[in-house]
Amino acid sequence: MDRFIRGIFWIAGYLLLVSVPLLILFVERTPPGRGFAPDFNVALAFSATAMMGMMFFLTARSRSIGNSIGIDIIYYYHRRIALAAYVFVLIHILIALFVNRAFAADIINSTLPLGIRFGVVALLLLTVLVISSVWRKQLRIPYEIWRLWHIILAISVISFSLMHIFSVAYYAGSSNELFLWCSLALFWFATTVWTRLIKPLLRRRHPYEVVEIRAEAGNAWTLALKPLGHGGIRFKPGQFAWLTIGQSLFTLDEHPFSISSSACEHERVEFTIKELGDFTSEISNITPGVTAYVDGPHGSFSTDQHDAPQYFFFVGGIGITPVMSILRTMADRLDQRQLLLIYGCKTLEDMTFREELKTLSGQLNLTIVEVPEHPPDGWSGESGFIDDKILRRYLPDYRSGAKYFLCGPGPMKTAIEIGLHRQRVPLENIYTELFDFV
Ligand SMILES: Cc1cc2nc3c(=O)[nH]c(=O)nc-3n(C[C@H](O)[C@H](O)[C@H](O)COP(=O)(O)OP(=O)(O)OC[C@H]3O[C@@H](n4cnc5c(N)ncnc54)[C@H](O)[C@@H]3O)c2cc1C
Repeated sequence: MDRFIRGIFWIAGYLLLVSVPLLILFVERTPPGRGFAPDFNVALAFSATAMMGMMFFLTARSRSIGNSIGIDIIYYYHRRIALAAYVFVLIHILIALFVNRAFAADIINSTLPLGIRFGVVALLLLTVLVISSVWRKQLRIPYEIWRLWHIILAISVISFSLMHIFSVAYYAGSSNELFLWCSLALFWFATTVWTRLIKPLLRRRHPYEVVEIRAEAGNAWTLALKPLGHGGIRFKPGQFAWLTIGQSLFTLDEHPFSISSSACEHERVEFTIKELGDFTSEISNITPGVTAYVDGPHGSFSTDQHDAPQYFFFVGGIGITPVMSILRTMADRLDQRQLLLIYGCKTLEDMTFREELKTLSGQLNLTIVEVPEHPPDGWSGESGFIDDKILRRYLPDYRSGAKYFLCGPGPMKTAIEIGLHRQRVPLENIYTELFDFV
């Protein structure tokens, strides 16, 4: 199925599942004594719960959804939808206080019924979830700790929300209503069990062994893995995988990395990892022989998924890794399509794969433009940041049907997107990989 149609299919499926609880409001008879405001308020709460519940499905790393919509876009909407659900919950509480003045007195006198208390707990936990996610970096919460608590909080919020809905029992008391809510809840929790327990268990049957750790320029290390007793992963060049090294399969210390080796090579898969935080700084200490697990391939940042007569790549720093896989694969396939790589980095010494890229430019129809932020004395090439002017100088005039791949830090991505927009490049021909989508 075409990627666009699959994307539409998944979005339609998502909207349908989110709106299922609202159907109850239309189908079931309005309980006596209720009017528009209370029913609208129930609709808000039902929508918020369904939107939050569907997060388990959205973040289950489904390859089909990820490859059709893009995993970074899924996470982008995950954040936006969560905020929208939070706003719905806040409005729900304001309307409840307005419609039922007794609530305010109950809160002050601490005489809230149990069902409402469940709702209050859900709200408090959701507030912690939202604050810790939106301001994780500012609050300096280590990623792994945040991730563990994110999962625990998310499951708790949904559990307390459902307990609130079942105890208050407006449109959730009849057998039909209960069946619908229980089916939805089962689906959400089954997705979590599948992602967090069953999938890691299945991965146990496909272990890898670390066979080499190689130092690269730019404070990076290439980690080579060999499949143990299986055929390895079949990936498209440019895709990424979640990597777990030498630990329990149920660890939350798994990290996404683009595969940097050629997709034509199946006996060995390589990741090139820049030292950044606690996990990546330990890569150099790994000894060959250690077991690793690979969850992938994921993503749609691949020339194999977007066929074109010409490709233009714009990368910054370690963003070279997916493009390296693409170029190595093209060299293995003797592909002679026109390629341009504009590669930004701090200094030329920092440029990961600089020597190999020169060799590849001799084998491929590839032009490389190096853009060091701090060029050496006497450097006559481009320097500074990749911008509109550099794009205009190097993009050929004839670019019909060309595809553009961007992988680098946020500000570089924005500058290049603006530049490409000015060059009238259609948005649908630009593909982006973000290394910090979480
Ligand atoms: C699709 C994708 C492909 C990537 N490819 C590469 C690559 O080829 N080479 C490379 O060096 N880096 C790559 N990264 C970035 C890499 O995942 C992070 O640098 C690494 O996880 C940082 O972990 P840390 O514990 O060392 O640093 P920390 O200081 O713990 O984390 C730094 C930041 O990295 C992100 N991060 C950390 N852990 C995770 C995780 N488990 N899942 C998602 N994000 C996380 C968070 O935004 C965090 O704030 C890629 C990221 C993504 C999303």
